[in-house]
Amino acid sequence: MSGLERGQLRRVLLDLQQGFAVTVAEDRLQLNLVKAPPYSAVPTPVSCFIDGEFHAYLGCAAEAFTIANLPMYSGKSLEIRSYCACCYEPISLEVEGISLMAQQPADICVAVVNSPWSWGPGIPCDRVCDSFHFVLGRTHASNFEEQIGRSGVVATTEQMQAVSRGTAMRRMHAPDWGPIRREPDAFIEVFRETGIDVSAWQVM
Ligand SMILES: [Zn+2]
Repeated sequence: MSGLERGQLRRVLLDLQQGFAVTVAEDRLQLNLVKAPPYSAVPTPVSCFIDGEFHAYLGCAAEAFTIANLPMYSGKSLEIRSYCACCYEPISLEVEGISLMAQQPADICVAVVNSPWSWGPGIPCDRVCDSFHFVLGRTHASNFEEQIGRSGVVATTEQMQAVSRGTAMRRMHAPDWGPIRREPDAFIEVFRETGIDVSAWQVM
């Protein structure tokens, strides 16, 4: 129990949602938590296993590169299981700390099928999570884009690791880490710096 009154708790959860820390069913009296990144309370295509046993669903593909650096997993190897968003071929990654130890198959990529220009400050993290999907290389990324009628950019696992490093290093490590505000141009710059082709996100 939080010890907070219902009204106070609603306010706290909405503040946390504004700061990208949770997604809450804000239209429900029960204030159900949908996500608290890197975790998801509802099933997603990305799951985490420890020693062969299911541990948790993750918010999205990007969280595969942040979860293992949380302090409670120090020295542990985590297995991330997912599938290609276009054809459901299974994929797996082994992560430890901020390191990607192994991936199967070798050509796993992450398709980001939306534009950061639609992720302004204050939007729930669930909306951003919904844009990140594992795929088996660029051809499968294109297939997925055609299937859903959206487009975006494609990152290798090494590039996603670099993009996610700031979050991985600070979450549960930096007590003064403030609310996350998704400023689109700054977000795009982080992608560009890692060598990801962000031309699909240029403002015309
Ligand atoms: Zn595929």
